[in-house]
Amino acid sequence: MFDITAVKIGEKIKKGELSAVDVTVATIDRINALSGHYNEFITLDVQGAVAQAERVQKGIERGEFLSALAGVPFVVKDNICVKGMKMTCASKMLENFVSPYDATVITRLRKAGAIILGKTNMDEFAMGSTGENSYFGATLNPYDERRVAGGSSSGSAVAAALREGFYSLGTDTGGSIRQPCAYCGVTGIKTTYGVVSRYGLVAHASSLEQIGPMAVDAETCAAVLDLICGKDKFDSTTVDYNVEYLNSISNDIKGLKIGVLSESFSDKTDKTLGDNVLKVCDTLKYFGAQAEMFSMPITQYTLPAYYVISSAEASSNLARYDGVRYGLRSNFCNNIEELYVNSRSEGFGDEVKRRILLGTLVLSAGYYDDYYKLALRARETVKKAFEKAFEKYDVILSPTTPKVAPKINSIIKPIDMYFGDAYTVAVNLAGLPAVSFPCGFSDGLPTGAQLIGPAFSDAKLLNIVHQYQQITDYHKKTPECKKEGQV
Ligand code: GLN
Repeated sequence: MFDITAVKIGEKIKKGELSAVDVTVATIDRINALSGHYNEFITLDVQGAVAQAERVQKGIERGEFLSALAGVPFVVKDNICVKGMKMTCASKMLENFVSPYDATVITRLRKAGAIILGKTNMDEFAMGSTGENSYFGATLNPYDERRVAGGSSSGSAVAAALREGFYSLGTDTGGSIRQPCAYCGVTGIKTTYGVVSRYGLVAHASSLEQIGPMAVDAETCAAVLDLICGKDKFDSTTVDYNVEYLNSISNDIKGLKIGVLSESFSDKTDKTLGDNVLKVCDTLKYFGAQAEMFSMPITQYTLPAYYVISSAEASSNLARYDGVRYGLRSNFCNNIEELYVNSRSEGFGDEVKRRILLGTLVLSAGYYDDYYKLALRARETVKKAFEKAFEKYDVILSPTTPKVAPKINSIIKPIDMYFGDAYTVAVNLAGLPAVSFPCGFSDGLPTGAQLIGPAFSDAKLLNIVHQYQQITDYHKKTPECKKEGQV
């Protein structure tokens, strides 16, 4: 069952060859056998999932739930609201918070008959690139448990890699879907800004982030987008733009012009990883695509601009966790000032505090022009550079990350962690779509390639990756699980 894709499972359920309940129970058994080992889950809802599956199965038998993924179980990053389930954002601040409502993506998936299994581990408030900044401990990489799973959607990537659910929802503010996908050998898309509703997503940096699918293959990602995209009256930044993603992925790609981003193949990128990405071009040429190297000298702006803007937005978004409106309330306070200070000091971890300090600094009167305003200008420059590149190329190819998954506890300085996002953040600054997909291995560890397209080319990007996945099998590889007899 776990060798076939979400869409095939959905078809089998519809035909009555499998029942939603059997699929859900088998997936829970698989999770029970594996989980705990990689620390990929924060909450599992076994009873709730079985109850949903029973209800959906009856509905399917009555001819309801016609979507491609009806009856198919999935998992959710723990910064997305699921009614009645804990939502911690992997923070002590929200350790006991139970969401009173569903995020729009969850409402839509429930309506389509999808089954929610539980919530996945992540970097606290989605701040991090390794999955180590979680109050509940680091998520381990299933390809080598001494290594990180990536971040911030660490648990969602591991769950997708281990087939613990047929897809995961993650969020991407500066690479948090794509980078863990690359480290764990799975496929994921950060959509064009506004394509997916952020209602019910705990905000980290609102102008940059999107919820998106992570799964074995591009086909599954397309099927999920069909269910979650579209205008939402609860999120005014959503756009009224509907395409049929799953129906768009069998088009040929003859004549496709690929620009290969030369800056991402410097000596900062691992040699084997870079070579694997370049081989993607050869494969796509087989389908009639053309590729050439080009330069887009914006890399010196992207990381600084991203960290200034995202921290500025985070410092404002996280002001609500003060022990009064939301979040942990300290027991050690004699007055209101102490209540705020102690609640925030006890509730937030180091990285979150660092971002709040940085964000508050760059927005303060004396520094606003020098940092925040300058970063906004850099953001415009990045946008323009992409616009220019897309006059010549249909898509841009680069590695998703400079290196393969690092060892746990090996990154000491925060700034070194930020460099791990070197190839992903530009896309968020420009609001563009990008897909990360497995393109081979380096010393047994997965390597990820990234395809970036102009705004609203999401379906086209998934189509290209789907064509690639028709004649390669990197995405089909599963990590050899360390505990015996489990898979
Ligand atoms: N690693 C980046 C950061 O720490 C991106 C995080 C994300 O996409 N949520 O900000």
